[in-house]
Amino acid sequence: MCNVCNKGKVVYFRAYSGERLCSRCFTKTFEKRVAKTIAKYDMLRYNDRIAVAVSGGKDSLALLRVLAKIEAKFPESSMVAITVDEGISVYRDEAIKNAEDFISKMGNVEHVKVSFKELFGFTLDDVVRDGAVDRAGIKPCTVCGILRRRALDIAARQVGASVIATAHTLDDVVQTYLMNMFRGDIDKQPFGIRMELEGFVPRVAPFKLTPESEVVMYAYLHNVPFQSYTCPYARTSMRDMIRNFLTEYEENYPGTLYTALTSFEKLIKPSNVSLQKCEVCGVPTSRRICRACEILKHLNVREVPIQ
Ligand code: SF4
Ligand code: ZN
Ligand code: ZN
Repeated sequence: MCNVCNKGKVVYFRAYSGERLCSRCFTKTFEKRVAKTIAKYDMLRYNDRIAVAVSGGKDSLALLRVLAKIEAKFPESSMVAITVDEGISVYRDEAIKNAEDFISKMGNVEHVKVSFKELFGFTLDDVVRDGAVDRAGIKPCTVCGILRRRALDIAARQVGASVIATAHTLDDVVQTYLMNMFRGDIDKQPFGIRMELEGFVPRVAPFKLTPESEVVMYAYLHNVPFQSYTCPYARTSMRDMIRNFLTEYEENYPGTLYTALTSFEKLIKPSNVSLQKCEVCGVPTSRRICRACEILKHLNVREVPIQ
């Protein structure tokens, strides 16, 4: 029997709090925590135009569903789902189809799609297949991650978004902090916190205090489609090793992820990043040439557009 309502059938055991929850109480507490995260970190404003980064994976569609419910209470806000098509056949095609189906069932959510092909002139498959990625000595995931970020920025500006929301979970954020620490780089800004810097659309992560396992359960309970294909370029990376370690640790010592996040955030001393304009595309960057332009230069393709 559910610990909260004392009626419903238990579908989820929240190990770190000891709660056994029915579907209704799980959903309610899940959505409440997302709303509290947004309020705690002052992530969204009542009149934001929110660009939700929707890859088509379950996390991003779950985020879209929760934000749509929260934003319904703020009539001056609006929301647009943005999907970046990197051009990874089968894998991304399936994700985009899942996103389209899910969004069309939601009814009133605007969906904008942009692609590497239209923005940069190639698909990720193209530059892997023709050997450009190998010749440049970069990994497909690096090209994908950096250019996806740029594509999302471009699309967010095009739709007049005031903020970008991503579906990074508590697990993702702690993985990132640990990776930064292993690289001797802990002094970075806290992850997923709204930072208003000129020339940037701020990014927030409303799932930052929500464990991945709960996002999976929420997605499952609310008919969010799951992908059946994995990305052909996914390889065992430092992040995978850290993810496996943290997952096992959390299973044995529930609550570790949250404790780790708060400990890391006490250590982070936000630095005043001094930004200059990228010499090629003009976006604010801490380097002479931004990473997107650097990648395009290595791949020997044309300049990255700013918007
Ligand atoms: Fe992109 Fe790498 Fe993720 Fe595939 S695994 S979608 S290439 S970042
Ligand atoms: Zn209940
Ligand atoms: Zn640049």
